[in-house]
Amino acid sequence: MGHRPYIVGNWKMNGTRNSLAEARAIDRVASKWPQVRVGIAPPHTLIHAMRDAVDSIDVGGQDCHSETDGAYTGDISAAMLKDAGASFAILGHSERRQYHGETNPQVKAKCEAALGAGLSVILCVGETEEQRDSGEAESTVSGQLTSCLPEIAVEEEGESVSARLAIAYEPIWAIGTGRVPSLDEIKAMHASIRAKLVDTFGENGNEVRILYGGSVKADNALEILSCDEVGGALVGGASLTNESFGAIIIAA
Ligand code: PEP
Repeated sequence: MGHRPYIVGNWKMNGTRNSLAEARAIDRVASKWPQVRVGIAPPHTLIHAMRDAVDSIDVGGQDCHSETDGAYTGDISAAMLKDAGASFAILGHSERRQYHGETNPQVKAKCEAALGAGLSVILCVGETEEQRDSGEAESTVSGQLTSCLPEIAVEEEGESVSARLAIAYEPIWAIGTGRVPSLDEIKAMHASIRAKLVDTFGENGNEVRILYGGSVKADNALEILSCDEVGGALVGGASLTNESFGAIIIAA
């Protein structure tokens, strides 16, 4: 793929202004390893301050609304994320789907809104343990992509919109559990996602980055990132401190 690996931290509902010291430390590691692209999605309350505090890392949001503005108490639009200093949004995370009842059509609308606002998008997909055990992992993920992939003009004024889209394959049973699929399972799923992307977007489907997420740590990052079609990692728990996230950046 020729891309430098993209290592993205999802801080979830963790972090206050005190945590900016940790982000600065991660930024210092990222500045020493320019061959790795690094991003952090902190809680919305920290986006602006983190953008000001770091130089070498992308700052993103963990969700956005599909509408541009209006009576949606507690929500935040893609343009607001951008205005706060975000360059990307993680959308359709399994925790949003589980705890906020987000559906595939909503996730698709959010992806379209974020791309339309000029953000990059990391669209999350992944199967449950039952679906994997019953041999339905690839069909589940393919079905999610059918329903969630944005309908975008792949070229806009010379800019390739598909290059602003990434897919994060996150098996739900691997998130925060310390369990990871085998490398063969990761390779097979990423190949299947690539085929689906090319089927949907034609040649531009090859520009869409595919990240693996689920219990990535410094000691398994390198072998996971070495798998065909794995263009980076989405990291939850291990992204919160420089000790663990910095070690993943260095391993990458
Ligand atoms: C995530 O929630 O996106 C994730 C990958 O979490 P963890 O790394 O903690 O498994």
